Amino acid sequence: RPVIGVLALQGDVREHAAMLERAGARAVAVRRPEELAGVDGLVLPGGESTTMSRLLGVFELLDPLRERLREGMPAFGSCAGMILLARQVLDGRPDQEQLDALDVVVRRNAFGRQVDSFEGDLDVTGLDGGPLHAVFIRAPWVEKAGDGVDVLARIPHTSEAGAAADRIVAVRQGTVLATAFHPELTGDERVHRLFVGIVQET
Ligand code: GLN
Repeated sequence: RPVIGVLALQGDVREHAAMLERAGARAVAVRRPEELAGVDGLVLPGGESTTMSRLLGVFELLDPLRERLREGMPAFGSCAGMILLARQVLDGRPDQEQLDALDVVVRRNAFGRQVDSFEGDLDVTGLDGGPLHAVFIRAPWVEKAGDGVDVLARIPHTSEAGAAADRIVAVRQGTVLATAFHPELTGDERVHRLFVGIVQET
């Protein structure tokens, strides 16, 4: 079983760990550089990207994490995790750190107040078994994706966030996967299985 870390500074760590275990990995919490060094891949959970960015500095994880990502460690970010992995954030805090592991520009809290949180079914490229039920909580979207980035899902026109139709909400670039929504909250482990598969192939 691959050993997959969950960045455990803040956010919904336990939910990700449970889903990783169900998807066939051994999940471990990562708070220290030594713990990061021992994992085959890393999940960056949802939470608050500005807080997590600050805590990455406090826990002296920022440089080691950037280094491992540069070396090709697989990573999966959901929501705030997607924001952290991005090259650039719009509507972020000026001092917010970017890990620059995904060639995307994300907009933080992009869906606005009317649809702060919403749910809906998404077609996700690469997932068999029909649409995925997705939960969005003060979610970002991908405003711009580079040429090397595969777009895996967009907001459908039938969504209750219909004004955001066609906005990109799941991407993959090589071994880095990111979703604007929270696949750890719905009991459907297909996204985590996809990530465990990426880690196994790497
Ligand atoms: N709005 C949060 C942020 O900016 C993300 C919300 C989430 O992860 N559920 O980081």
